[in-house]
Amino acid sequence: MAKPMPSEAANEFIPGWEMVIGLEVHCELKTRTKLFCGCTNSFGHEPNTNICPVCLGLPGSLPVINESAVELAVRIGLSLNCKVDESIFHRKNYFYPDMPKDYQVSQYERAINENGYLELPLSKKMVRIERAHIEEDTGKSTHVGGGGGRIHGADHSLVDYNRAGIPLVEIVSAPDLRSADEAREYVSELRAILVASGASDGKMEEGSLRVDANVSVRRLGSEEFGTRCEIKNLNSLRSLVRAIEYEAQRQVELINSGERVIQQTRHWNEDQGVTTAMRSKEEAYDYRYFPEPDLVPLSPSDEWIAEIQGRIGLLPAARRERMASLFASVSAGSTLDQIVTAVGLGLDDLVVAAVECGADPKLALARATNEVASDIGNLSNLTVANFSDLLMMEFESKLSATQAKTVLSKMLESGSGPQEVAKSLGFEALDASILEGLVDQVISGSPKEWERFSMGEDQLSGFFIGQVMKLSKGRADGKAVTSILRSKRA
Ligand SMILES: [Zn+2]
Repeated sequence: MAKPMPSEAANEFIPGWEMVIGLEVHCELKTRTKLFCGCTNSFGHEPNTNICPVCLGLPGSLPVINESAVELAVRIGLSLNCKVDESIFHRKNYFYPDMPKDYQVSQYERAINENGYLELPLSKKMVRIERAHIEEDTGKSTHVGGGGGRIHGADHSLVDYNRAGIPLVEIVSAPDLRSADEAREYVSELRAILVASGASDGKMEEGSLRVDANVSVRRLGSEEFGTRCEIKNLNSLRSLVRAIEYEAQRQVELINSGERVIQQTRHWNEDQGVTTAMRSKEEAYDYRYFPEPDLVPLSPSDEWIAEIQGRIGLLPAARRERMASLFASVSAGSTLDQIVTAVGLGLDDLVVAAVECGADPKLALARATNEVASDIGNLSNLTVANFSDLLMMEFESKLSATQAKTVLSKMLESGSGPQEVAKSLGFEALDASILEGLVDQVISGSPKEWERFSMGEDQLSGFFIGQVMKLSKGRADGKAVTSILRSKRA
């Protein structure tokens, strides 16, 4: 039977159907060392240089739990409103070359964090968090030559154990999400929480956050869940949305053509924009879980949990409130969107500090979520003082909006101050008397237009501004020209 081909317009979900989505997010913890040994936890080193007998699973080696990993896991649980409780470690047995021990130490029956929730910032929807448990990461295999990076068709495979044993927290949501957009909003908010709590750097592109999506479909109004498929290792928000929409569409078309959805684990192919079957879904008994005999139960005291609570910084919801307080009113719309973006990208401290230095809040928010956000890699080049100076120059019309944007992007590139950059670009503001001279020159050269403008044809101000711009070679500020024109007419 021919494989159903989901149509191009997968963005418009099929009327009469509903998606049911639950997400499992693996988050690498920002510790100095691995979960059970003293090896360095960091990204991008030479393969197989951060390894030892423990993380290689050599016979006779014994794990010692990393206290700071447990603390960060507790921070995540508290930030997600979970109950933090006594938990135990299990061995999850499976055979694969990226897992040197042939088992992964994870938490199975009793997770350290259970029964929490997260509120989506725009839709205000509550998403239940079933659990957020601690486990160790696997190594990383690379399949070389043919096969497009997949094992099938590859000439040979390489394994790097630097990642084996890095502490992870796996955050499992209930199947409460109903669209790809909600899934994206959930992951953005979760990432902001993980970063704000100090638990993770949240870098999806480096694999610090990896998302598996459980997707099923059902007819609108139905209470029953459909058969789900799990899409593995989605490592960007864009892939997450595309993969979910493709997969839901595929399932609906299968059902509509009289076939059955088979429960399986699927792989997202970014280039072709399709999910493909990897393997039929494992059940828990396939892993032969049993309690890890080399580790005692984890039982954080109430005092320690309270101490940890005190070390969690301002979380995104509180950060959004702090931002909103800068504005007279924030209703649904562009300002709220910008606030959510600024907090999601960690730019809210910059905006708040600039406003405290006297900058206009709306302008600060706009420049942060547009120009600064688009060059966020260079954020460290931008001081609060320079940013607020630039905003003041724009607010006082010493720079036009277009000029201010250009200056800001150069400031991010070079780390220089706004005056210096504006001068180097020839953006120095024209002295008021020079500007007035230019306006007079234009008026005497266009007496008819001036007469009509004087009679109240306001739309002609655009003509005059254009002429002054030309004379000044683009250095004049439109707002300043307008006010000179108005004063001369009066
Ligand atoms: Zn090690």
